[in-house]
Amino acid sequence: MLDGFEFAVFHGIISKPYVINFNFYRMKKTIVVWFSCGAASAVAAKKTIEEYGQIHNILIVNSPIKEEHSDNIRFKDDISKWLNYPIIEAKNNNYPNMSIDEIFDKRKYMGGVLGAPCTMLLKKEARYQFEKENNIDFHVFGFTYEEKKRHNSFVKFERSNVIPILIDKKITKFQCFDILDIAGIKLPKIYKLGFPNANCIGCVKSASPTYWNLVRKKFPEIFQNRCEQSKRIGAKLVKVKGERIFLDELKTTDKGGKIKSWECGLFCNSN
Ligand code: SF4
Repeated sequence: MLDGFEFAVFHGIISKPYVINFNFYRMKKTIVVWFSCGAASAVAAKKTIEEYGQIHNILIVNSPIKEEHSDNIRFKDDISKWLNYPIIEAKNNNYPNMSIDEIFDKRKYMGGVLGAPCTMLLKKEARYQFEKENNIDFHVFGFTYEEKKRHNSFVKFERSNVIPILIDKKITKFQCFDILDIAGIKLPKIYKLGFPNANCIGCVKSASPTYWNLVRKKFPEIFQNRCEQSKRIGAKLVKVKGERIFLDELKTTDKGGKIKSWECGLFCNSN
């Protein structure tokens, strides 16, 4: 059966140049930019559109997690306006609430040698499901210039069809902040509070005492919830002087080094 366009061509309603254009459109490759509500992936999206937008279909995709700071949504909307592109969602159909608390309680596991289940189910599996439903030719992530190693590792172990847009353009994480600043876009509030990325508050990937004491100070309720939940499940989330301890054993005076940045999900297993 002919679709509307084919019908119009068949009956001569649409002329040949339009047919050629349409066929060209159909041949366009699809690039997915995985937007994490962080500065780097926002700039990666901008640069991808500038470089490839004319000749590729570009999708900007986000997997929203319930436990991220609420200001991430404001940031996502600002970025969508800046790009003049919609930001669509990729969710795990089996966990439509996209809640890490729910995952921890159901799985009775928060992290360890097998990685973090929240990453696996809410980021990776959400991406795999999206990949199955969409024909994707290339992926773009927010790997910055100083993250070549992580990009290489991702390409080796996860997907080989990645365009390293920020690395190619030698754009660092701090330059991403500057680019957004010049564009008049405020970073997600979580950065201002001293956190190195816009991930979930109380991320189970961090074992840093400095990080967890910052969570305790800025978000006492979330800290308390994570204390109780991890005790119940038996997960020792924090490391002090080389030893894993429960969060409720962490002293307010315990310190580690500077809080490192890490990315969740799409490539956090490669950290
Ligand atoms: S940011 Fe941390 S807690 Fe949130 S999904 Fe990723 S690994 Fe899990």
